[in-house]
Amino acid sequence: MSLIPKSHPRAKSLFIREKLVSGFNRGLVAKEGLLAHGRGEAFDYLLGEKTRKTAKRAITASAAQILLADLPVISVNGNIAALCPKEIVNLAKVSGSKIEVNLFYANEKRKQNIIRTLKKNGAKEVLGTNSRSSTTLPGLDSARRIVDKNGIFAADVVIVPLEDGDRTIALRKNGKKVITFDLNPLSRTSQTANITIIDNVTRAMELLIIECKKLQKKNRKMLEKIVKDFDNKKNLADNIIEIRNNLTGRLSIA
Ligand code: ATP
Ligand code: MG
Repeated sequence: MSLIPKSHPRAKSLFIREKLVSGFNRGLVAKEGLLAHGRGEAFDYLLGEKTRKTAKRAITASAAQILLADLPVISVNGNIAALCPKEIVNLAKVSGSKIEVNLFYANEKRKQNIIRTLKKNGAKEVLGTNSRSSTTLPGLDSARRIVDKNGIFAADVVIVPLEDGDRTIALRKNGKKVITFDLNPLSRTSQTANITIIDNVTRAMELLIIECKKLQKKNRKMLEKIVKDFDNKKNLADNIIEIRNNLTGRLSIA
């Protein structure tokens, strides 16, 4: 039961925060995940807490890139499992992607809790726990380098919501096309991914599902053109302008 009144001016943001706290209490989210969420909240505030034009552009490019992929894989961590488990499963179904659990702060119990949550939300198969099919991603220390041979290791496109910079760089170095959701346009992940969706994952994931359904009707050539015409560096720069305009607008009202 939520104690947040719907009339609260920051109700939406507080509801999202509550989801994360509930995820923490259910053993899905790491303590550090709560802090990472706080960093995201701060950037969402600067963005005006809405899906901007740059995010919409990146969502269209992402949908095209995923539909073009031979083996797209969605990498899931605790925060994502707490915030949008149903959407992850729907995105996988609509786009033919595999789902793999990969944690920054490895913990077998937490991994099992995440898998259970995804299965409860309709996932048929979740990779990332079978030690017989695990291998290592070169260029990374720690448990994060352990990936599934049939999942992230073999993928040509990896969707990594709320990812750490080291891992994004390692995925790129291993030849993967990386799509991320990250509210901070300045993070290393945002800067190194092929496509960065600068938006709250709780708003943007659903939009990506809708866009995948829409673009399924397009032919390969058209999808390739969408990807080719998208410039991530330019989109990130445009996002900084969106933030600046939002802040200037607020100051002039005050
Ligand atoms: P990097 O390692 O890429 O330089 P970082 O160290 O600043 O980034 P991490 O904790 O590694 O940050 O990654 C978490 C990222 O996820 C942050 O950039 C944060 O802004 C972003 N984030 C947190 N919550 C959300 C959310 N709900 N939607 C989208 N992005 C989010
Ligand atoms: Mg980091």
